[in-house]
Amino acid sequence: MALRLHNTLSQQVEVFTPSERNTVRMYTCGPTVYDYAHIGNFRTFTFVDILRRCLRLNGFALEHVMNITDVDDKIIRNAVAQGKTLAAYTAVYTQAFLDDCAALRLELPERLVRATEHIEDMLLAIGKLGESRHTYASEGSVYFRIATFPEYGKLSHNDFRGNIAGARVDVDTYDKADARDFALWKAAKEGEPFWEGALGPGRPGWHIECSVMALKYLGETLDLHAGGVDLVFPHHENEIAQSESLTGKPFARFWVHAEFLLVEGQKMSKSLGNYFTLRDILARGYTPEAVRYLLASVPYRKSLNFTFDGLKSAGTAIDRLRNFKLRLETDRLPDGASEVWSARTASAQGTFRNALDDDLNTAEALAAVFEYLRDANTAMDSGEFRAGNAPAALDLLTAFDAVFDVLKPSAAAGQWSDAEIEALIAERAAAKKARNFARADQIRQQLSDQGILLEDTKSGVRWKRK
Ligand code: AMP
Ligand code: ZN
Repeated sequence: MALRLHNTLSQQVEVFTPSERNTVRMYTCGPTVYDYAHIGNFRTFTFVDILRRCLRLNGFALEHVMNITDVDDKIIRNAVAQGKTLAAYTAVYTQAFLDDCAALRLELPERLVRATEHIEDMLLAIGKLGESRHTYASEGSVYFRIATFPEYGKLSHNDFRGNIAGARVDVDTYDKADARDFALWKAAKEGEPFWEGALGPGRPGWHIECSVMALKYLGETLDLHAGGVDLVFPHHENEIAQSESLTGKPFARFWVHAEFLLVEGQKMSKSLGNYFTLRDILARGYTPEAVRYLLASVPYRKSLNFTFDGLKSAGTAIDRLRNFKLRLETDRLPDGASEVWSARTASAQGTFRNALDDDLNTAEALAAVFEYLRDANTAMDSGEFRAGNAPAALDLLTAFDAVFDVLKPSAAAGQWSDAEIEALIAERAAAKKARNFARADQIRQQLSDQGILLEDTKSGVRWKRK
């Protein structure tokens, strides 16, 4: 079965293959490094990571570029307020972003590119757009005239005809003005850092940065461009207008967008104040793997409602997977192999892969693994699942972990939270009640490995850290 992805451009789920040879040339919009990223941002970056891994699972090589937006209004405002250079200010948050990516096991793109290192390329592109009359200047800034790009709206499926004459919006983000012309080059304001160039002192707009860096490193037509759903309009629509006006070619064959992470029904965002950074969550004792699991577990085209209960369940799910792996590696199983279980394992592998190929349906992929795990645990207890079945079951976990990547505990994760410990103790009690003593002993061992001692008393189980 081939990989299928939902393409925002066609609004269809289509079979995805790279246009040339076997390498996927893809661009994803990266963070604006004015502050720590929140886990809403990381929902989108985790989706990109899952996408990368699934592309590789399909045998494709990757040439992936992601930008770091290290110049914008907020960055300038904050850097000026703190008396820092842009570079000194953004270095802190760029590093924090990379650290968080590492904690969440997000693979780095083949090329991570900074906007401020491509100002010359942007000036050249804006100049070229000017030569072909796609721009106009006003008060030291240069704007893209959307009326010169009749296909504007083809990605967001908005019909802007009659709505885009003349006027302009002097902000990076769409601010509900009627006019959608946007700044390519913004005139320097008093006291702000700027670049000198043919267009006069100023700095680039946000949209031009992505077009220029994508075209520079990946060529005129990308295989795939991705980001959060908020970027469809105006950012990606503007990228298309600029890039296609420059090259006369389609900018990207596939556009793939992840839905939001929500808190109580609202988008997690800095401006609403309803956000958590990864650091906030780790400080509460959750592991980065639990965060990763939670972010990956909801298919990217569904919004993900963030709750701490969800995070706890993610931790429990990971424990179950790790325990199952431990069992496969250490249980003394009867010799031989059960044909029924050989077939069952192969079928779970197939279901797992098909679910991911089906527009990265991570929820179904996980369901396939957990259904298998539950039945295999029972079959191990009854002796039906034999030693010869273990290698294929471990292969299934390897395939699972090639995408989800949560089985190995983080060295830096430190201590387990009380809630996680208590959940495991409850699971141990349930295992004992079901006379599954092997499982109960495993949990004791697992807790002991983490420095937690259990004491069975008349009034229940007490625990303490060693
Ligand atoms: P920014 O750093 O604001 O440029 O955003 C980085 C990425 O995070 C973009 O791809 C956004 O679409 C994405 N993003 C922002 N808020 C959320 C959210 N609540 N849920 C999912 N993705 C988001
Ligand atoms: Zn972008």
